Amino acid sequence: MSFDSLGLNADILRAVEEQGYREPTPIQRQAIPVVLAGRDLMASAQTGTGKTAGFTLPLLQRLVDNQPHAKGRRPVRALILTPTRELAAQIGENVRDYSKYLDLRSLVVFGGVSINPQMMKLRSGVDVLVATPGRLLDLEHQNAVKLDQVEILVLDEADRMLDMGFIHDIRRVLAKLPARRQNLLFSATFSDEIKGLAEKLLHNPEEVSVARRNTASEQVTQYVHFVDKKRKRELLSQMIGEGNWQQVLVFTRTKHGANHLAEQLGKDGITAAAIHGNKSQGARTRALADFKSGGIRVLVATDIAARGLDIEELPHVVNYELPNVPEDYVHRIGRTGRAAATGQALSLVCVDEHKLLRDIERVLKREVPRMAIPGYEVDPSIPAEPIVNGRQQQRGGGGRGGQGQGQRRGGNGSSSAPSDRSGAPRRQSRPQGDGAAKPAGANGRRRPPRKPSASN
Ligand code: AMP
Repeated sequence: MSFDSLGLNADILRAVEEQGYREPTPIQRQAIPVVLAGRDLMASAQTGTGKTAGFTLPLLQRLVDNQPHAKGRRPVRALILTPTRELAAQIGENVRDYSKYLDLRSLVVFGGVSINPQMMKLRSGVDVLVATPGRLLDLEHQNAVKLDQVEILVLDEADRMLDMGFIHDIRRVLAKLPARRQNLLFSATFSDEIKGLAEKLLHNPEEVSVARRNTASEQVTQYVHFVDKKRKRELLSQMIGEGNWQQVLVFTRTKHGANHLAEQLGKDGITAAAIHGNKSQGARTRALADFKSGGIRVLVATDIAARGLDIEELPHVVNYELPNVPEDYVHRIGRTGRAAATGQALSLVCVDEHKLLRDIERVLKREVPRMAIPGYEVDPSIPAEPIVNGRQQQRGGGGRGGQGQGQRRGGNGSSSAPSDRSGAPRRQSRPQGDGAAKPAGANGRRRPPRKPSASN
């Protein structure tokens, strides 16, 4: 089957061809006709399946088909909400590529960078807006954007948005949209919470789904190594060195842990950088580019920062610490074995993490094979200690945000650092804004405090 038979116009097909796509992926085959027909859509698909083109291509076509004749400032007609900055940037790039022969303007907005350039660009008119929820609300609050002309709403990675505590923000955004619109919801998993959201959001939706790439995990070889916590770094350095691994994505639970490990690997002579929500956008982009180009061998990431990264054919993923949420394990190992390449996913598991491993294996519905490394046998006299979920809990709290979120998402989400606004759960009420933003200040008004996201 080719793209030509899906009903897309010549300008879009030309842009698709330039991307080198020969045929639509399964999610594209299913989603494109539904969206073109103007139907609401509930799609089960994760990153790596081609879902972005699955909603973007028909969305662009609908916008050009229904182009208003009136001149004047262009209102936002399509809104794509995503949980993280990286994913927003990636989708924004896709939208730009696919719309290059169309008379449509697109813009990406997220927190952690100055709000003023975003305001300026919005002022000159934007048809397709890709946004993280927090920054979008800031912009809306400052009258930089109106959402009352939105014709199509896309909620991408809805499960992750709820995990990250964005539900209240999403509700606030929904309240600004016109009642009549097309809604597209994408999610890798469908919990009761997502189904509840879908029921409220979608009208008579068409449901499509593609197999999750990693539930069966045939493409990914997984192993568990039991090792004492304090010997994990030594083991990791040894494996990278002896295996001559050149590109390794390593996951830690906390931002602090990511920084520390990257530093330690550096001391072992292994080039490494950390990527997490407390890093500036520039630093994150640079680290990712260095990693992709082979400038550094190891990228140490927290779950939220790694979300949406499209690093093709990544050969090695290491769970330096197991995630608190079992589904995150599936997302993590989904970074490897992509695009038909095979990959290896290793988990270094200490005595504290046995319960987390059991939870993961319950989700996978199978046991991950254990592999012993001589010289790293565990010391049975070391007792298990409870896992402390990040600095905030160690300090005994901080922001008004609920503890429930911190406990589920772990340390990665437990900091109240301002720069983490669009890449991590909301912990604070206003006006603790994104770095350079003055969310409440510019015109002296203040938004009402956000509700804590404790229920997630
Ligand atoms: P996504 O799941 O949207 O993040 O897409 C994953 C990757 O697949 C991206 O790098 C896309 O550029 C690429 N892609 C999307 N559609 C196709 C297609 N039909 N053929 C080949 N690659 C594609």
